[in-house]
Amino acid sequence: MNLGVQIVSFFVILTICFIYFSNKHIKLLSTKIYTVYLSVSVIFSVFELFSLYTLYNLNVDDPLNRLSHQLFVGSLILVLMFLFIYVDILSRKQKRYKPLELAVRILPCVFAYVMVIFGRFEYHIGADGRYSYGPVIVTLYCSLAVYAVWTIVTVIRRRKSFNPNTALPILFGVTGWITIGIVQSLNPAWLIESMGVSLMQLFIFLSIENPREYNDGDVRGALNRHAFEQMLNERCENGKSFYIVTFTLTNSELLKNSVGVDEVYRILSIAATNISKSLHSDFYHTADNSISFIEKHKKCCEELISSDFDKLEFSTSSGMIVNTSFRLSFIECPKYADSLDKITELMTHVRSADSNSARSVVVVSEAVIDELNYLSGVERLLQKAVKNNGLEVYYQPIYSTKKKKFVSAEALVRLKDKETLGFISPEIFVPMAERMGLISELGATVFESVCSFAKKYNVRQYGVEYIEVNISAVQSVDIYLPDYLLQCMGKYGISSDFFNLEITETAAVEAGELLDLNMSRLKSMGCGFSMDDFGTGYSNLSQMANTGFDIIKLDKSLIWPCFDGDSAHARTILDSCISMINGLGISIVAEGVETKEQVDMLTENGVEYLQGYYFAKPMNEQDYLKFLQDNCK
Ligand code: C2E
Ligand code: MG
Ligand code: MG
Repeated sequence: MNLGVQIVSFFVILTICFIYFSNKHIKLLSTKIYTVYLSVSVIFSVFELFSLYTLYNLNVDDPLNRLSHQLFVGSLILVLMFLFIYVDILSRKQKRYKPLELAVRILPCVFAYVMVIFGRFEYHIGADGRYSYGPVIVTLYCSLAVYAVWTIVTVIRRRKSFNPNTALPILFGVTGWITIGIVQSLNPAWLIESMGVSLMQLFIFLSIENPREYNDGDVRGALNRHAFEQMLNERCENGKSFYIVTFTLTNSELLKNSVGVDEVYRILSIAATNISKSLHSDFYHTADNSISFIEKHKKCCEELISSDFDKLEFSTSSGMIVNTSFRLSFIECPKYADSLDKITELMTHVRSADSNSARSVVVVSEAVIDELNYLSGVERLLQKAVKNNGLEVYYQPIYSTKKKKFVSAEALVRLKDKETLGFISPEIFVPMAERMGLISELGATVFESVCSFAKKYNVRQYGVEYIEVNISAVQSVDIYLPDYLLQCMGKYGISSDFFNLEITETAAVEAGELLDLNMSRLKSMGCGFSMDDFGTGYSNLSQMANTGFDIIKLDKSLIWPCFDGDSAHARTILDSCISMINGLGISIVAEGVETKEQVDMLTENGVEYLQGYYFAKPMNEQDYLKFLQDNCK
């Protein structure tokens, strides 16, 4: 008796089993069916060896011989039936079967089983080997052929719902198996069915069901983003309620810088493992500092909200104790998001909208959805405005305390359309334009508009020495910025010393060398620079002294507290800032000046320029022109 093929096939399937079951795999319905299909393949291999043993060692009439052949044939049909169901489920939109659909699919199997139980086995015993044949084996071949052809037809018909890496291996595997089946039926003594079973397993395991494809490489025990998306797709199609619970480590940047990124992933892993005990579900590494769960039961989520999850102490590998803070978000699906795209959009929104929030629990509600819809509306409006001349520039005059007149203005972008969504602050749409890759176009439009306005009305004649133009963080490191600005100034014949480019303190600190390059080129061309919003970021004082800003704009948050009830500390800070900046020979613009009291105090303290509602709000070109005409008399 030569069992080479059977033993090799048995070990191939056993190895697949070992790798498969020793890794975490995702709980998709298709994966669950694959697990059954794999288990049935192992059982088949054992029964095949058993049937060969009884055929060679017992009398053919021995009931044990008949039983072993019944088990062997019965398990082979199950292998093919589960392969077909697996492929069917993988490609169906509606994952669950209706009773009739299920009945049709198991019918060939039931038919073969009736024959297996009641039919007759014949045994060939000859010099070429031993094997079984007869009516049961014919029925077996028929039902195997039905499932094999059905599988191929399913793959071909639904090829669009498979990804190409999935459909081809299935087609190859099943075609190979059919070939093996035909060869086997023509040469019954060859006994090579098990080769077909193990080859098919290998194809599917390597191309679709290798659990390592779903394991996250960073956070131990977590499944990756791809696994998360697969699960969500299935849950959304299923239509039943579920909850996405996401934990975000809010102080992850600080921890990364102090204890390293590996420790941050370890902390996420420990926290998620603990939480998964109460949620009884897998966890997914969905963003750098976030872990998500997909939970069926609302009650578990509510228990989690009331638990002490948000402030935990962790011991690092080196024994250091670090404090962590987590934020928790809940999304009820499909109520608030019923597709993968919508869920992804909502998760990104919740993550970014609340990155500065002190709230440790965010439960997605109608209000959050309204906010998201509003922002989507703003995005559409912005997209249209940038493409179709929908932006305009307002000007807010800047007053010189030394010259006692308005010597400049800040150009501030506005969306023309105020009907659709009302007034939208540039604080909302400028960062949005950065994220959408529209900021260069937006910046270019603003700059060109300022050039065109300055030329058309020759604003210098009204004593305007320069205009402040805001440059966003992304623009400030764009290598084409200097060329563009130069070309635009050339087109309108405006000299470069008419512009002071404003870069926020935060951008100035974060942008580093690229900004230095742009700044030195633009400065050599004659442009001036202002550091905007001083006092809101983290000033690098030595950098401030060296990077050649001509003006520093004090943010209103440095000024306003000086006029609150208990203002001694705020005054000390403001006075020190003013004397330090003046000491460096840099001019100061105070922003947000709203009262006479503020004007007097800032003027007495040596602030050279003032900007704020006390003098004028930002206004459109015509109003600004009128303002200049009135104030320059
Ligand atoms: P910013 O550059 O610091 O501009 C000053 C902001 O303070 C303006 O808001 C202005 O209207 C407001 N403001 C001025 N005086 C007062 C006051 O007395 N009281 C109060 N409460 N507010 C005052 P705005 O126009 O909404 O702009 C907000 C931010 O949007 C700007 O802050 C700037 O960072 C950005 N931004 C505006 N236009 C542009 C642009 O063309 N390009 C870029 N990249 N960013 C822009
Ligand atoms: Mg500004
Ligand atoms: Mg500012």
